[in-house]
Amino acid sequence: MEINLVSDTVTKPSPEMLSAMFNAKVGDDVFKQDPTVNELEAYTAAFFGMEKALFFPSGTMANQAAIKLHTQPGEQLIADKYAHIFNYEGGGVSFNSGVSCRLLDGNRGMITAEQVEDAINPPDFYHSPLTTLVSLENTTNKGGGACYEMKDLLEIRKVCDKHGLKYHLDGARIWNALVAKNQDPLHYGQLFDTISVCFSKGMGAPIGSVLLMSEKDYQKVMRIRKVLGGGMRQAGYLAAAAIYALEHNIERLTEDHRRAKELGKALLKTNWVQSVESVETNIVIFSVKPTIQDAVVIEKLKQRNIAISSLGKGKLRLVTHLDYKEVMHTYVLEALEKMVF
Ligand SMILES: *Cc1c(COP(=O)(O)O)cnc(C)c1O
Repeated sequence: MEINLVSDTVTKPSPEMLSAMFNAKVGDDVFKQDPTVNELEAYTAAFFGMEKALFFPSGTMANQAAIKLHTQPGEQLIADKYAHIFNYEGGGVSFNSGVSCRLLDGNRGMITAEQVEDAINPPDFYHSPLTTLVSLENTTNKGGGACYEMKDLLEIRKVCDKHGLKYHLDGARIWNALVAKNQDPLHYGQLFDTISVCFSKGMGAPIGSVLLMSEKDYQKVMRIRKVLGGGMRQAGYLAAAAIYALEHNIERLTEDHRRAKELGKALLKTNWVQSVESVETNIVIFSVKPTIQDAVVIEKLKQRNIAISSLGKGKLRLVTHLDYKEVMHTYVLEALEKMVF
């Protein structure tokens, strides 16, 4: 039994999902003639109450297209220092859009309206870059799966309105936030100009993201996706996996969250863990005691067929997901209990 807790991207499509993919009706999506892609886009747009949705091969490309849509070269966006768009998209913000990032020192990847307001460059001060976009992440990846309260998202919207800024949400794991905080997806649709969502994380699909937006932005985003090379042909085979995930894999995320919380508790009981960050969704970040090397912990777990990852500086991470089943969970809890230094 190989247990992979490195990421929720390691899942493989279930037989039922594969069957939905296999049976998908397809056409050429570059001509917008793939019925399954069209269905996924309509479904997702309605789910969040937004006018339009567009299918992308990756969350990175969906985020990059949104940033390109909202900015001009030389401008600046505001994000948390842990933001995926800054840390893990290959420098795409500057490469694709010629934009700089004003990074804020938030709490577990989350920032406040006050911090945003303080970080806006005065538009009449022509020496500094013009601030035009605020980009949030929910749940936060590097922040350990933390998620925003709706009222805090609304406060930041008000600051954006006051200063004429666009408001983007990197919602790669928005599904986890919806379930953990019992939120209404329609509220997200009302707040943000654009939202990117991933189907290849906790939702268990092999590929695929969607960018949600207004009718007005849609034509422009179609062109940006084309420029980035994201126009796909019979993509309905992939969209079918995403539709299957929307219909079957949202509610069950509570299982991933419960298991993550239980892992957090089990880690705290060991004699080699220093601290565990509060577990809100499916990501557990913990620190080992200063006398213990994280590489040794990873190796010891590997010997028990459990894979986890290091974030550096004595911090380790594990992520629960669709393919992490109850039998594996029982085994891991036992293995943690038995592992002593
Ligand atoms: C995974 C992820 C993305 C998108 O990543 P892709 O691998 O390009 O699909 C974007 N934002 C966050 C926060 C993520 O965790």
